[in-house]
Amino acid sequence: MSIYTSLRHNIHLAKQNILHRINPKRCNYFLAEKTEKLSAEPLKRVNLQVPAEADTYTVVAVGKKDDKLYKKKITTFYSEGNIIKRTIEDSDGNNVIREYEDSGLGLKKSSFFERKITHKVQDKVTSLFKTNLIKLIKGYRSEKDGKIKIQLLTNQIDDNSINSMVTEYPFSGINNKFVKRKMLGLKMDFIDGIPVIRETFETTNVKFPSDDKYLPFRFIIDDGIKLKSLTKHFINEKNLDKLNIKISISDKVEDNTAGYFSENSGAIVYNKNVHTNLVKLSSHEVEHAHQYRQIGRICKGNSKYCLDSRKLYGPIDGLNESMEAHKYAVASEKYPNIDKSEDLSKNPEYKNNYLEVKAREAENRAFEEYQSMGKDLNSQFFFWLE
Ligand SMILES: [Zn+2]
Repeated sequence: MSIYTSLRHNIHLAKQNILHRINPKRCNYFLAEKTEKLSAEPLKRVNLQVPAEADTYTVVAVGKKDDKLYKKKITTFYSEGNIIKRTIEDSDGNNVIREYEDSGLGLKKSSFFERKITHKVQDKVTSLFKTNLIKLIKGYRSEKDGKIKIQLLTNQIDDNSINSMVTEYPFSGINNKFVKRKMLGLKMDFIDGIPVIRETFETTNVKFPSDDKYLPFRFIIDDGIKLKSLTKHFINEKNLDKLNIKISISDKVEDNTAGYFSENSGAIVYNKNVHTNLVKLSSHEVEHAHQYRQIGRICKGNSKYCLDSRKLYGPIDGLNESMEAHKYAVASEKYPNIDKSEDLSKNPEYKNNYLEVKAREAENRAFEEYQSMGKDLNSQFFFWLE
């Protein structure tokens, strides 16, 4: 089946679902979820794929009877009643994004697709699964001439290292053997959870982006590994490493929260089910960890984290820095209790709390830097290495 038939296939599945009520044995798929049109606003904060102009969206999810973990989720975004984007996410890692544009002569559509293929390579000697090979295939199909662009990112993960390679293939259909593939590869080791480049490889048509400190992170496919290592990076950058902050990814975090820093447990916890901007998310939570260290250093706060902070980092001597820490302390006392079902973007007490205002400033600074450092690399490849 061509990937482009996915949508038709899904409609087909939905039809099959109706059939399945008549003859349950005929279909392995079932309709797991179907929503009415919902407001897109609350989703914008936690989901990057929501277009800014979307006002409503619907979700249809399909499951498989013989595979409880399988789920295909189709999210359709609307603006003033017109479909503008549809994302098809598959728990197998096959995703399609279609963007619709009203050209005045009917809807113009372009398709981006993404497939994640994971397999474990068995080590014959120890018969253990030693190496993980993950491939991320991104593609684009031009509506005009049907030509396809493919970009491949592979990660070969061993105990404490990743070999990664990005390969961009010329547009299929261009019958020109002088158009070469573009390749850039990194061999990295994890040192204290942070990827460090050991060796590099690039074809002659690629210029190595040497001034990008985030380069190793861009080559990591696994969101969990990437999020944890980015967090470690920001912890080091903020000189917070003495505090031994625990980092975890959990499926027990409330739906309206992508992550949080807990001063009581000295931990950063991320929501496993929320897919958002990893750089913004991690730098935001590390900023909170920094804020509570500063609170501890002016002898406010009585959590172990705050006490440790004072012990390990001593009192603050600069006047400005100490005034800033007092502002954090005041804000922490006013920090609102958050209801697990509320839309945080509509809670001014939360949004305007000084700790949140400053954490948002930090995340924006970090992301701006991440993007501007990535220009050298990303101007050379068709798809961004995010
Ligand atoms: Zn926050």
